[in-house]
Amino acid sequence: MSRSSSLATDPLAAGDVERLALLLFPLFGAVPDYVFLISPEGSLRFVNRTAVGLSATALLGRSMFEYIHPDDHDVVRACLREVVTTGVPGRYEAHGPAEDGRMALFEAHVAPARRDGEIVALAVIARDISGRVDAEAKLRESRRRLDVAIAASRVGLWSWDVRQDEIEVDDGILQIHRRPRAQAPKRFADLLTTIHPDDREFAEAGFRRAAQSGEFTDLEYRIVRLDGTIAWIVVTGQGIRDAAGQLVELLGGALDVTALRQTAASLRASEQRYRSLIGVLEEGILVQDEDGTIHTYNASAQRILGLTQEQVAGNAPLTPRWHAVREDGTVLRDRGDGPLFEFHAGEPPSGAVLGIHKPDGQPTWVAVRSQSLPTGPDHRCAVVVSFSDITDRKNAELEKDRVLRQEQAARQRAVLLAETSKILASPLDIQHSLEVVVTRLVAEQFDLAVIELFDDDGAMGVSHPVHVAVEDEALAQRYRELRRRQAVEPTSPLIDTVRRRETRVTAGQPDAVPAPLAALPPDEELADRMRYRWTAFVPLLARDQPLGVLIVGSRAHAFHPDDITLAEELALRSAHAVDAARLYAEMETALARREEFIAVASHELRTPLTPLLLQSERLLRLAHDESRFSRAAVAPKLEVVHRQIERLHRLIEEMLEVSNITRGHLALELAPVDLAALVRDVVAGAAEDLAHARCEVRLDLPDSLVGRWDAARLEQIVVNLLTNAKKYGAGAPIEITLEADADSVELKVRDHGIGISLKDQQRIFQRFERAVSGRHYGGLGLGLWVTRHAAEAMGGAVHVHSEPGAGSTFIVRLPR
Ligand code: ADP
Repeated sequence: MSRSSSLATDPLAAGDVERLALLLFPLFGAVPDYVFLISPEGSLRFVNRTAVGLSATALLGRSMFEYIHPDDHDVVRACLREVVTTGVPGRYEAHGPAEDGRMALFEAHVAPARRDGEIVALAVIARDISGRVDAEAKLRESRRRLDVAIAASRVGLWSWDVRQDEIEVDDGILQIHRRPRAQAPKRFADLLTTIHPDDREFAEAGFRRAAQSGEFTDLEYRIVRLDGTIAWIVVTGQGIRDAAGQLVELLGGALDVTALRQTAASLRASEQRYRSLIGVLEEGILVQDEDGTIHTYNASAQRILGLTQEQVAGNAPLTPRWHAVREDGTVLRDRGDGPLFEFHAGEPPSGAVLGIHKPDGQPTWVAVRSQSLPTGPDHRCAVVVSFSDITDRKNAELEKDRVLRQEQAARQRAVLLAETSKILASPLDIQHSLEVVVTRLVAEQFDLAVIELFDDDGAMGVSHPVHVAVEDEALAQRYRELRRRQAVEPTSPLIDTVRRRETRVTAGQPDAVPAPLAALPPDEELADRMRYRWTAFVPLLARDQPLGVLIVGSRAHAFHPDDITLAEELALRSAHAVDAARLYAEMETALARREEFIAVASHELRTPLTPLLLQSERLLRLAHDESRFSRAAVAPKLEVVHRQIERLHRLIEEMLEVSNITRGHLALELAPVDLAALVRDVVAGAAEDLAHARCEVRLDLPDSLVGRWDAARLEQIVVNLLTNAKKYGAGAPIEITLEADADSVELKVRDHGIGISLKDQQRIFQRFERAVSGRHYGGLGLGLWVTRHAAEAMGGAVHVHSEPGAGSTFIVRLPR
């Protein structure tokens, strides 16, 4: 020991070092490791490389511990001591600065250097093993991770040396097979015994194919575990070849998929259950994609919606024309090929009631509930829609509503009828009442109501009464103006309706342009605006006489039969009211006429009485005074008396005639009469009066004209016509002509006097009717009436041609 310590304190001679250095530097400079020589205590005697900036010689004599991490000093000292003590090379690991200055881990081998059998120095070769240690640590870590991953994946690993037929399995495989290591399969034949007998054949074929080709196709088969339970596994693998390309081994993994398969099977079973469940539901169920494709549906869905197999299979557009409507009747957006219900619009409808048309056009009501399904993996939305067919219920409701509406409408009509009837029954102003009627009709029932009445001439001339009600008063005004401008043509359908005496309804086709009001002239601009799809023309008839027409029109709604009934009822009541108003007016004038007649008659009867009284007094005085009594004095007075009595007689006869005719007592005594002679006699008889009135009478008569007539009546006719011609003839000549053919005769009495207006011509043949004032012309207004009756009693007729101021011609036509 003392020797060694002397060695330790005895450094190599400088000459030795230099010699050694010469030899060793080139040699050790090429070695990547640190090679150094130290004294047994650790002072440096030689180094082959140094840290940057230090020369090798500068290091010499320093302690190696200056270059070792203090934590490692003990380990290094122990090693050096061991080597020195035992003489056996040693090894240590310690940290120290590397060439680049970073702290590195060195593995050092220490060998004793002897001189003369004595250990005088120690040779140390230190290698930087930092990199290797890191790599080993990483490898260990990755191995650990792999193990964890394999364990976590529950994949078992296996290998099969196909040449030696040796099989190796890891714990994972044993776990899957629930086998102890002792019973792990060693050969391929062992492996086959673990496979379920039913799957064994195809699994073996799969393994053998892979052993041939090196390509392993995944296998899924059942294994039978030691405890007899069965598990499904999926086996994957790969061929491994040697450098020569020879297949040496198959390597692979196996995974227990029993639970997965059970889950899939129970999912399938659950889906099956669910399908059969919705299959038996009375409710229709559909699952639809955003684009309308149907995923799932049940038989009820197909039945309720009337879908074809192609449609539910998604091969045909779903809804060519649903014509879907909401419960309130508004139309649902008809997307044709889109989803069943308003999917895009936001919330799919829930609790909604929809009316749809099946592809065969059959209307169906469905109650819909729907719900969006969670967005699928492809981010598509889907909706599940369930619906039930409520057509029957809905139809019943609709029917109830319809009946209710009908009842309401009937009540409304009844009220309208009652109220308008009340107005019509009031004797006030009939034209005002009719105005109220049309206004109410439009306010409550129709789009148009018109009442047009015949004027006094029995036509619809420019001044006939018109009552119009329509939604727009300006339009009504235009209609009235049209009527004042343009009389209704006798050929108009309006007049035709009245003539036929029956209601006439015109209905436009629902898709066609509504027909203009039929009574409007087609070129009239109103025809554009007064368009009504439905119009009804109802004649106003009273006592079988046509008085006018009621027109009602509807633009959009078809007439209900009750609408027509209402129009007819109102037409009837209006006609009666018009008739009553007219009768009332006529009665009033008749009463006025009668009063006038009485006044005129009294006056007429009194007129002859004054001269009669005067002349009879004179005659009486003459009768008492014989001296003055002479024929010459008496005769003129008696003539006056006679004329006045005749006049009275004629007046009384006329009045008697009235009651005769009125009572129908117009007895005829027919016998051959010469009318020409009769006319001449009458004219001759009236010669004095005519002369008095300075009236010339021109006769144009045949010598004789004989027929079978009542002579008294004929005379009445001629006398009346001649009297009138003289009275109203303004002193102008009167012409009387007679013309005849084999069957009839025509007597014309023409004057050139005051004439008669067209309006008056209608009525002067009526009783008491006069067209002149009593102040200017006396008369009872009976002459022409008697004349007419006399002519008619003999099968003839009388009429007049006249114009005011241009004279009149009365024509009597009689059969012979
Ligand atoms: P009256 O002459 O007594 O009034 P009529 O019945 O004979 O009664 O005639 C009725 C009315 O007809 C007359 O009041 C008169 O207005 C009109 N009339 C009759 N004949 C003529 C005539 N020739 N020219 C003008 N007016 C006539």
